[in-house]
Amino acid sequence: MSNNCIFCKIAAGEIPCEKIYEDELIIAFRDIAPVAPVHVLLVPKVHIQSANEITSENSHIVARIFEVASNLALELGIAESGYRIVNNCGADGGQTVAHLHFHLIAGRAGGGMY
Ligand code: 5GP
Ligand code: ZN
Repeated sequence: MSNNCIFCKIAAGEIPCEKIYEDELIIAFRDIAPVAPVHVLLVPKVHIQSANEITSENSHIVARIFEVASNLALELGIAESGYRIVNNCGADGGQTVAHLHFHLIAGRAGGGMY
């Protein structure tokens, strides 16, 4: 737990969220300000600041996130129509919460890079 980290607090159950999945490594919940009909955040339970801090020691957590994203896509009915998995890293990447997370975004046609 990193002090004053909002996603650490959500993972610890100290701040409520609309949780849709949880296991020993990760939690997935609805984004509070969705940009599309489906907008889920997949978050490691341990504090990892950003993609810059992915290492051989913690990359299994990232693998789990992609595995769960794939399963959630099926459950949420977006596997066929398609979706985006997005990570923002650092200031120029548009990262606003300094705890690694991946956006699962779907339900609107037309993805693209931005
Ligand atoms: P970033 O801009 O860092 O890639 O994404 C952060 C995301 O976290 C944003 O989409 C924002 O809406 C979401 N977010 C920020 N605070 C909260 C919160 O307290 N609860 C939930 N569910 N989402 C949050
Ligand atoms: Zn954190």
